[in-house]
Amino acid sequence: VRGDAAIAAAVRDAAAERIPLRIVGRGSWLDAGAPVHAARTLAVGDDTGVVAYSPGDLCITARAGTTLGELGAALAEHDQWLALDPDGGAEGTIGATVATGSYGPSAALYGATRSQLLGVVAVTGSGEIIRPGGRVAKNVAGFDLTRLLTGSWGTLGIITEVTLRVRPRAQMPGAVEHLRRPHTAGSGCCAPANPAGTARLAAALRAVFDPAGILNPGILDAPAAGETA
Ligand SMILES: Cc1cc2nc3c(=O)[nH]c(=O)nc-3n(C[C@H](O)[C@H](O)[C@H](O)COP(=O)(O)OP(=O)(O)OC[C@H]3O[C@@H](n4cnc5c(N)ncnc54)[C@H](O)[C@@H]3O)c2cc1C
Repeated sequence: VRGDAAIAAAVRDAAAERIPLRIVGRGSWLDAGAPVHAARTLAVGDDTGVVAYSPGDLCITARAGTTLGELGAALAEHDQWLALDPDGGAEGTIGATVATGSYGPSAALYGATRSQLLGVVAVTGSGEIIRPGGRVAKNVAGFDLTRLLTGSWGTLGIITEVTLRVRPRAQMPGAVEHLRRPHTAGSGCCAPANPAGTARLAAALRAVFDPAGILNPGILDAPAAGETA
């Protein structure tokens, strides 16, 4: 599905009938997290493309289905890069990377996923389009929904567009290149953790963002005995 309006319409249809949705980007990491039991798939991997890029402002806006490889290629033309290098490499979508809060070795120097995010556009479980953050580095203060949605594993909203902070290549020190080759397995984040202390908060947030409970249901559940997350 492409475009905020079409994605929102698909979510509203599902919410009206309480049909659980499995959100999919490129589908390369769907076994992460607890199993999702969803009757319908909402694929946003074909909603691709750079929407805005101003090298002078060091930020880029892209649709959620854009791969990390496509972003890297666009940025390289201006000798810039994005400090996000999760396992899975160039094929992963930026929407999934943000949704899962994925990051890699360069986080040690530049911070994890949230540190690279300036703003997102997302569709909640009610089919509402929300636009927290902005497309510039100087951003409105307040309750930071951009941070909340990062690493929410699709449970609070479908990320449809992201605006990212980028860096000149000169800031890509040899240390990061060294960490990358050979790639340090397991250096990124891991499968979703939902410690008991945060379970109530997660439930409260979902009641607001996804009252019908249709977005990736079950993905943050603790694994049953004998099951791996
Ligand atoms: C084999 C493998 C192992 C990996 N291991 C790690 C790791 O250990 N640590 C790490 O940090 N990263 C890891 N990754 C990183 C992962 O690459 C990124 O999250 C990535 O960008 C996946 O892209 P995708 O489009 O294929 O995701 P998908 O497989 O399509 O989706 C991954 C998850 O994100 C959700 N999702 C996808 N798109 C959206 C969206 N637009 N809005 C909301 N939710 C969405 C899906 O429901 C799903 O739960 C791994 C990737 C692979 C392929």
